[in-house]
Amino acid sequence: VKGFEGKQVAIFGLGRSGLSAARALKAGGALPILWDDKPSNLLPATKEGFTVENLKTADWSQFAALVLSPGVPLTHPTPHWTVDMAHAAHVPVMGDIELFARTLACLPAHKRPRTVAITGTNGKSTTTALIGHILKSAGKDVHVGGNIGVGVLDLPDMHAGAIYVIETSSYQLDLTLSFSPDVSVLMNITPDHLDRHGGMEGYIKAKRRIFMAQGSKQTAVIGADDDYTSAIISDMRVNSPVKLVSISARRTLGHGVYALNGVLYDGTNVRARQVIDLKAVRTLTGRHNWQNAAAAYSACKALGLEMDEIVTGMRTFPGLAHRMQEIGRIGHVRFINDSKATNADAARQAMSSFDKFYWIAGGVAKAGGIEDLRDLFPRIKHAYLIGEAAELFEVTIGKSAPCTQSRLLFTAVAQAYTEAEKTGREEIVLFSPACASFDQFTDFEARGDAFRDAVSEIKLGVTGEK
Ligand code: ADP
Repeated sequence: VKGFEGKQVAIFGLGRSGLSAARALKAGGALPILWDDKPSNLLPATKEGFTVENLKTADWSQFAALVLSPGVPLTHPTPHWTVDMAHAAHVPVMGDIELFARTLACLPAHKRPRTVAITGTNGKSTTTALIGHILKSAGKDVHVGGNIGVGVLDLPDMHAGAIYVIETSSYQLDLTLSFSPDVSVLMNITPDHLDRHGGMEGYIKAKRRIFMAQGSKQTAVIGADDDYTSAIISDMRVNSPVKLVSISARRTLGHGVYALNGVLYDGTNVRARQVIDLKAVRTLTGRHNWQNAAAAYSACKALGLEMDEIVTGMRTFPGLAHRMQEIGRIGHVRFINDSKATNADAARQAMSSFDKFYWIAGGVAKAGGIEDLRDLFPRIKHAYLIGEAAELFEVTIGKSAPCTQSRLLFTAVAQAYTEAEKTGREEIVLFSPACASFDQFTDFEARGDAFRDAVSEIKLGVTGEK
């Protein structure tokens, strides 16, 4: 990190991003002072040789900034005490993305890489990964990170010619001040995280910060399919200098990029041009993915890619791990990993995509369990239930479909395969748990990896092939 040479910077919240910030600041010649409310979080910092000091009793007049982890409340329900102390001492409060932005601003213009930032309530990770993939397939030097995968400060050092594609959450945006991406994408806004932003207005305000510092040479890509983002488009048309591109997965836009029945069109010129039929891309099916594709197309075009380069990239998009990802097949049985579905709503998306399937589900149920999925139960050929929710789910499914208490994921995969294999027809085994994972796994990623490993192991046993 540049811009803080020889200065003291307070860091509060010593999770992964806090420690990354400390390392990056130190490497750039700053003097980070670290603290956390949880004593156990101080240990890794001490071990790495950082200065750890109680910020409650520190002299705040000496700090050039307070770097806050996105998990720490900035305003709601009440500002964290560090935020109050920072304000009282006129110390700016920021997060890792702002440190990244300041480092960028310190580089001479000819050495600056370009940046794309993506936010929205849904589809952030998919769109970020899709943009990264298209740019890579067009031969660009691309780094993808932020709220997905690697934190921004752990990405390779900035260099000319590179493009950084960064997923940003509303919490992270709340902690940015000068971040000014070459392309900013806001997919959609629906109520979410309202507790932390003090209601809808605060949430929208956080999302809008992605455009705040942009100028006339930069591009804003905004979804036009919900009322909140539509209002932002109308306002920015009048009040913002940026180049605006609106996108829709529902309707023709007079001037924008849109998908109709899965066919993507570029309508930014007088005559709309057909880009690609997304129905033919297995990893980009479903209306929500049309929106993601429209956003990715607009972002890549703003970065100077040709239409055929973008289309080639879309055709080879492997999809995002653990989200409706086809991870393999054994004979005529296809296995779909949707471990990211940690609640019933997310599982609905997956279950609606198949007429009939063998369902593996369970873990730690959310409030309401799978009551809301009743209309989809007739599609279940057989449910294999795992984890704490197994009994509850069997009761809810009742007579709608046969159920087996598999308990463990590996057992469930083996049982589902055995049943599906018997039919001799094309079958789907869908792992869309509709539950949190922490009774049996560290997170949804570890759970999805375990599913993939189980499929590989069974495949090896059956076919002798990996
Ligand atoms: P995020 O990173 O915003 O959580 P993801 O790309 O990881 O979003 O997608 C998570 C889930 O949200 C997907 O499995 C899909 O069901 C749904 N989804 C993806 N894109 C969209 C979209 N554009 N609009 C609404 N829902 C979406």
